[in-house]
This record gives sequence, C-alpha cells and structure tokens, in this order.
Amino acid sequence: MENTFNQDVYLLNVEVMNMEAIIEVHALTKSYGDIRAVKGIDLLVKKGSLLAFVGPNGAGKSTTIHMLTTLLKPDSGDIIIAGFKVGPNDEKIKHEIGIVFQDSVLDDLLTVQENLMIRGSFYGLTRKELNIAVANAMTVTDIHDIAKRRFGKLSGGQKRRVDIARALIHQPNVLFLDEPTTGLDPQTRLKVWDTIEKLQKEKGMTVFLTTHYMEEAGKADYVYVIDDGKIVAMGSPNDLKNQYSSDTLQIKPLHKKDFTPLLDADQVPYKIQADTVIIPLNDVWDAEALIAKYRLHIVSFQVLNGTMDDAFVAITGKELRDL
Ligand code: ADP
Ligand code: MG
Repeated sequence: MENTFNQDVYLLNVEVMNMEAIIEVHALTKSYGDIRAVKGIDLLVKKGSLLAFVGPNGAGKSTTIHMLTTLLKPDSGDIIIAGFKVGPNDEKIKHEIGIVFQDSVLDDLLTVQENLMIRGSFYGLTRKELNIAVANAMTVTDIHDIAKRRFGKLSGGQKRRVDIARALIHQPNVLFLDEPTTGLDPQTRLKVWDTIEKLQKEKGMTVFLTTHYMEEAGKADYVYVIDDGKIVAMGSPNDLKNQYSSDTLQIKPLHKKDFTPLLDADQVPYKIQADTVIIPLNDVWDAEALIAKYRLHIVSFQVLNGTMDDAFVAITGKELRDL
C-alpha cells in the first residue's frame, strides 16, 4: 500500500521540536542476520512529553527500545539521550533512564518491598537513601498497600505498577516502557495509564512507550507509527485522525439491495459492514443532506467520529485486531 508519509511535515516537526528534544535518533538500523528489524529511523522526543511508539507485532518496536536504552548495539545510526550519546556514554545514560520491560524482571517469591529494596541496592545508595527512594517509587505508583504481598501472587495490573516502581527507584528523567498494557483487561489498562500519565504530568517525566493498542496512543502527546522497520506516520493523535481517518455516516437501510443502487447512481462512496452502510464524510454536516435525501430508505443512522484505529488501518493497511 502507498504510504502517505509527508517528509515536509516531518522536517517542520523536527525544526519545531528540536529546541527541547531529550531523545534524538538519526538513521538507526538493526538486523538480526537476514532480518532487517529496524531500517533507518529518525525520532525526536520533546522533553516532558508522552510519546507513543505504535506498530503491529514484529514492526521493530522492542528492537528500537532496546537500542535506545543501551541494551542492544545498533548496526548504524546515532542516539542521543539527555545530551549523551549512546555507545560512548552508556553509563551516564543509565542514570537518566528507567526501563519497564515487556516481561517482568522481578522475583515471584519475594514481596513487593523486598523486590524493590534488592533492585534499589544496585544503585549504590545508603540504607537511608534507599528506604526513601523505594518509598517514593511506591507512593507515585500507589502500591503501598501491597508492599508485603508476594510479587507472584499479584494481579497483572498490580505487577505492572510494581514494575514501574522498580524502574523509578533511581529517579530517572526518562521512562521507557515496552508494551506496558499488553495482556491486561481494559479496566486495568486504564489504571496503568493513570499511573503513567501521573508520572508525566506531576513529575515532568518524559515517557516513551510502545503499544499495539492504537486507541491508547490517542492519549499520548505525540505518536510515531512504525511498520516493517520504518516510520510510516507521525503526529499528534489529532493530526493523525484528521489526516488518516474520516467521520462516517452509518446507515441501517430498510432494504440494502434497494438502497445501494441509489448511492451508486448519486456517486456517493460507501462501504458495507453486515447490515450497515458506511459513508465517509468530508464534513460532518454533509450527513444532514444525505439523511434528508434518503430518509425513506433509512431505518436508523448514526454519525461517528474517525478513530485512531481507522487511522492505523489507513496508514498500515492492517487491522490491529487481526494481529
Ligand atoms: P515488535 O516489538 O514491534 O513486535 P521486534 O523488535 O521484537 O518487534 O521484532 C522486529 C523483527 O525482528 C521481527 O521480525 C522479529 O521476528 C525480529 N527479531 C526480534 N528479535 C530477534 C532476535 N533476537 N533474533 C532474530 N530476530 C529477531
Ligand atoms: Mg515487542
């Protein structure tokens, strides 16, 4: 599918965001043998922003996040985080960043507090500093009430919040999370998002997260869409919805077979989904004239706003729910 990635918009964004970029990535590539996982990507992340890095499974999200967090060596390209270059300055960068991995690194048999104390002990803090750091991390993630529970016995959402607390003990400025909400039920996903948004809004932290839930990316300040190792779209959630999705008039006709020939004759574009006829709208008010014109054929109708999922389908040609 033709992708409509707009290089001019990109360059403009680069210019605007460059002033306060805390993460800069240029021409980054990585292959595993014959598999070219990341094919030359550029990224800029504004200090204090929440960035969603979205793409289907296998797109290259984890590979990218592992390179950004110094865990995987790029084949080529540059990464600068908080002014430090990945490679020569990895130790400095590790102080700046916290990482929440896709799979937890904590010990199921230890309590939440024991896990955090052990992890915190890697940072060379005094006992007193460590106690304070762990308590602070527990406060911001709202896990004091489960401090004495065994990690292995917690629910998925509780575990995620403890994982996030673990990544916060050394007070990083940038938090990376790889699919923090994957596999959680919708309500739990919201709770984890609350925690992430709180970190950004109240602590001024820069958050870089990957997700394959496009609707979730709608809550970010900025979205990069990666597909097959390349950035295929970028912008604010509103930019992406405006550019790649449209509002629709969804009509339940009296008889589909009588109704669609009328649309064909009037050259009104439409799609059929089960017993619903979906008409894309350039302007939401166009719905009014269409409803008036065809009212005798309409059982019911609704006007829906374009969604992030629609935008994703338009950008990648893929349905996320198939992934
Ligand atoms: P995502 O996180 O977006 O699902 P990944 O970065 O994990 O994508 O994977 C990108 C591509 O690289 C996929 O084709 C995947 O199969 C491949 N890949 C990832 N890790 C490895 C590895 N350690 N060895 C070989 N291939 C890998
Ligand atoms: Mg991944």
